Amino acid sequence: QSCLERINAVEPTVSAFITHDADIALSQADEADRQRAAGSVGPLCGIPLSVKDLLCTKTFPTTCGSKMLAGFVPPYDATVVEMILRAGGVIVGKTTMDEFAMGSTSETCYYKVPANPWNLEYVAGGSSGGSAVSVAAGEVLASLGSDTGGSIRQPASLCGIVGMKPTYGRVSRYGLVAYASSLDQVGPLTRDVQDCAVMMQAISGHDRRDSTSVDRPVEDYSAACAAGMRGVRIGLPQEFFPEELDPEVRQVVMNGVAALRSAGAEIVDVSLPHIDYGVAAYYIIAPAEASSNLARYDGVAYGYRDEQANSLIELYKNSRSAGFGAEVKRRILIGTYALSSGYYDAYYKKASQVRTLILDDFKNAWQSCDLLISPVTPTPAWRRGSKLDDPLAMYLSDIFTLSTNLAGLPGISVPGGLSEEGLPIGIQLQGPHFGESLLLRAAYNLE
Ligand code: GLN
Repeated sequence: QSCLERINAVEPTVSAFITHDADIALSQADEADRQRAAGSVGPLCGIPLSVKDLLCTKTFPTTCGSKMLAGFVPPYDATVVEMILRAGGVIVGKTTMDEFAMGSTSETCYYKVPANPWNLEYVAGGSSGGSAVSVAAGEVLASLGSDTGGSIRQPASLCGIVGMKPTYGRVSRYGLVAYASSLDQVGPLTRDVQDCAVMMQAISGHDRRDSTSVDRPVEDYSAACAAGMRGVRIGLPQEFFPEELDPEVRQVVMNGVAALRSAGAEIVDVSLPHIDYGVAAYYIIAPAEASSNLARYDGVAYGYRDEQANSLIELYKNSRSAGFGAEVKRRILIGTYALSSGYYDAYYKKASQVRTLILDDFKNAWQSCDLLISPVTPTPAWRRGSKLDDPLAMYLSDIFTLSTNLAGLPGISVPGGLSEEGLPIGIQLQGPHFGESLLLRAAYNLE
């Protein structure tokens, strides 16, 4: 009830939700209560949560922030949604996001744009902006987002909460509407690291319905949140601290380094020489996969349909022209170009080769350290509208997060401090594949 009251009070100002429904939430809460009365208390029993509007839900429409999927109600729940409900969680609603998760501010959402609760004139980040805002504004206790190039960690950082992108394959993608299938991963956004561990526990594990899900035991993530960092080597990757880095961001991360050192960690300098090519490689690979994944939206099977068309081709053309927003069209054009015959070798193949070099850089780094510490974003949140007409500036804001996805690694963003203007600044930790426990332990020591 207190979350529902909070939603009523602040939702008109922060716009974290595309859909929310008190009746559905209360009936799920009743169900959790029945489970409890029957003696089975799930780890999320009665906890109000939100999920990003690209996770399929039977009870709510799933729009991906797009006109293209207006009113679409999937016939099934995503695996992570099933897992959360089975654990007793209560899903209050579906959160605002950049259209099809393409963006870094949630401003490309067709329905409404979330505002940063710390300063309503500023962006909440994206693409899981609504998820971050719903937690930061106290409307729910935790949320699920998706991270293809930073979309969990970046809004968490800009809104002053914790956000984790698990190792590729740790969490099922079944029922997650695909943006770039080889990069997408579902993960939690929470108020603190211990909540993040609880959520990770609830959603991790093998799913035979996702062929890229990995069959490997899930560790005890809550137990990983322990004091002390003795024996852990933290790498400082020089490429993540360029001269142009915002001085306040640099200071916050260096304070984090000092905190880990005094908790017993050893700090070592490392280098990832190919990181600088990450943005270029990502913005070929992600649009290439997106152009293929989004081919299914043709006005026939689901979502928006142009009713005026006189032929099949016209139906496709008109539905896609009116159903997709400008950024999605830009990505489809970039992607189809990069995959087209004659250009494939020059773009997609090259980008895939660079991706391997970046993975090798990380593997080399793990020879001398256990985790990497860095900024999440080059600056704190920026004013709404200020980068909307400049796609390149928008793409460059992902510079520190997207290499994690290219390499399939886990990463977490932890609140580090506030800028002079009073905007949150996060600290990023990245680890080796399936290094979630160690990441959570270090993150816990940063809080
Ligand atoms: N901002 C990046 C993009 O637009 C990442 C988005 C994401 O992680 N979903 O592709």
